[in-house]
Amino acid sequence: MTEPAFVDVLRASRNIADTVVHTPLVPSALSADHEILLKLETLQPSGAFKLRGATNALANLDEAQRRRGVVCCSTGNHGRAVAYAARRFGIPATVCLSELVPANKVEAVEALGATVRRVGASQDEAQVEATRLVEEHGMTDIPPFDHPDVIAGQGTVGLEILEERPDVTSIAIPLSGGGLAAGIALATKTINPSIRIVGISMTRGAAMAASLAAGKPVEVTEVATLADSLGGGIGLSNRYTFDLCRRYIDDVILLEEASIYAGMQSLFNVDRLVAEGASAVSHAAYLDGALPVDGTTAFVISGCNVDMRQFTSVVNGEPVEVGELTIGGKDIA
Ligand SMILES: *Cc1c(COP(=O)(O)O)cnc(C)c1O
Repeated sequence: MTEPAFVDVLRASRNIADTVVHTPLVPSALSADHEILLKLETLQPSGAFKLRGATNALANLDEAQRRRGVVCCSTGNHGRAVAYAARRFGIPATVCLSELVPANKVEAVEALGATVRRVGASQDEAQVEATRLVEEHGMTDIPPFDHPDVIAGQGTVGLEILEERPDVTSIAIPLSGGGLAAGIALATKTINPSIRIVGISMTRGAAMAASLAAGKPVEVTEVATLADSLGGGIGLSNRYTFDLCRRYIDDVILLEEASIYAGMQSLFNVDRLVAEGASAVSHAAYLDGALPVDGTTAFVISGCNVDMRQFTSVVNGEPVEVGELTIGGKDIA
């Protein structure tokens, strides 16, 4: 496989049209001085933009691959996306999850029609099972970010932003494995090379940021964060997203947990949106004064799959446990 090109984003946009929502781009109330627009990927039927990449990857499978089925091993938004898209296409999907994954997450994937295989005591062991299914049963593994079709699918977010508002000058994007940022950057910088692409992660365990700083993919220790969809590594043998992010991302901003907490409060109180921590990083960066918004800026509000108990605690200003940290509480208004 080769790196995705702009034409692959155009193709993806046709491939996903019947399955994925063309989400609205709406004004934010965050700034009185600058125009900020919110791309509401929270409105996807699976709750996050990952449906775009997964749908495009499945749409590009041939008949024989479709019959043998697809496999992935994500507990989060990617697992939901693969399950949802597979049901739409009538492709059997298996999601491999470790025994540690809580029952509610298992049920969420099963409710979307996927077969769940519970194996091993860690995500690594679940991946071993996924690899076995690929080798022994000819299933196709759908990775969460490091795949040309997945990157091209996520790039349709950028295409839609510029179709609607060609005057956008910068785009703020939550950054983890880099599929979303790479795809959007590829799409928008091909149309307008002067667009500024800002990737935003948490300080704790930002694998792409650490890799960009090191000049090669590196491992970071995964720690709990309010932006839980942004955790995880980029893979030491990363093939696509690292190079694309290195080429295209103009700035990387890193956030403390207290800032993400404040960002979630702002997204809810100012823009009235229920969203997960990963979706609040642009608000957080703006409130920190770290995100310049000179022209028209689009914020990608990437997903809404948040634990509602944690969410209500945050918006009520109550303390929440994040790993060994306690964030929020009385000192935050
Ligand atoms: C996966 C995900 C991200 C990060 O996307 P990458 O392609 O891994 O950088 C951001 N927000 C949400 C809600 C996600 O599910």
